[in-house]
Amino acid sequence: MDFTDSALTDSTPKQEDHHVASITDEHETTCWGCGLRLIISPYAPIFKCGWCGAITNHNAHKQDNKYFWWRRLRDRCFVIILLLFMLFIIGSGVWAIYPVIFSVSYFNGIFHLTITGILSITTLSTYILASFRSPGGPPLITWGSYPTIGRNELMDFTYCHSCSKPKSPNTHHCRSCGMCVLDMDHHCPFIGNCVGAGNHRSFIFFLISAVASTFYVSIVSFHVAYKIWPPLRHIPSTVLTRSTVVTVFTEYAFSFLISVEYLPIRGFVLIYLFFASVSVEIGLAVLLWQQLSYIYEGKTYLSQLRLDSRGGEEVDEKDCQNIVRFFGCRYPVTRCVIGFWNSKKSHKK
Ligand SMILES: [Zn+2]
Ligand SMILES: [Zn+2]
Ligand SMILES: [Zn+2]
Repeated sequence: MDFTDSALTDSTPKQEDHHVASITDEHETTCWGCGLRLIISPYAPIFKCGWCGAITNHNAHKQDNKYFWWRRLRDRCFVIILLLFMLFIIGSGVWAIYPVIFSVSYFNGIFHLTITGILSITTLSTYILASFRSPGGPPLITWGSYPTIGRNELMDFTYCHSCSKPKSPNTHHCRSCGMCVLDMDHHCPFIGNCVGAGNHRSFIFFLISAVASTFYVSIVSFHVAYKIWPPLRHIPSTVLTRSTVVTVFTEYAFSFLISVEYLPIRGFVLIYLFFASVSVEIGLAVLLWQQLSYIYEGKTYLSQLRLDSRGGEEVDEKDCQNIVRFFGCRYPVTRCVIGFWNSKKSHKK
């Protein structure tokens, strides 16, 4: 049983080549999806099976991945360094802030210690989950044998030569992770992992927790630094008029700089914590905003890139339900059930 393919790329032979092209130029190949024999034109390196809908690309080769272990090691080292850095920030924050906070009142100290504990645990745990959880592979499916594969059952599926497995249309192969990732958003160097269907929620929870933590650190470190700042010694006594505003401002700035000389080491740690937390907070807040808008629009960063490169029109619906579905439990549970159901039916080629 033969099904003639429909070519997807510029496979149309040129007009002048028609007289040399004969039936013998057409060659026979097998659809990887359903295993049927197909007669295809030599000008069709990429074709779609007329029965199962699977796409075969004769130009696709196994990607050269000789630096895979080096990339994996680099990613893991970066994760360990970032984890140590977070612990350093938490430790130095507690050292610099808590003696001052506890000196105000015992209740005040316990209150802030509780908030710090909750924020630290959620940030560290969501970071570890996003980093070490599998980003989620494509669902296991049956493939390679007619008539097990029904009509259009593998519509737009491609074959990953690196994993030797079928790839659904929303799956991408990541060279750094060495695997196909379902609903891949991007490969994030800061978590040393891909952000995909398996860990996207952990990644978003980490961003929310990290933005809240850095916001808290910036407010508290500013407040405590203000409290322990040495008194300004050269306070100008000039009456403020329009002409003297610049002079007064300069004198204030000067006396402020002089007072830094009397600032204890704790004060310098607080200044560092304030500027570090504000800059990290801005970066993470922008990333979180971008991620939430993609979720609201029902797409991922990669699908947006693909849309941009094709210049196509947006088809996904912008809906708050997308965000509810993302954070609710129905979304992954449905996926797990489908994955489990398919894995029971699947077979190894
Ligand atoms: Zn097929
Ligand atoms: Zn793959
Ligand atoms: Zn990756």
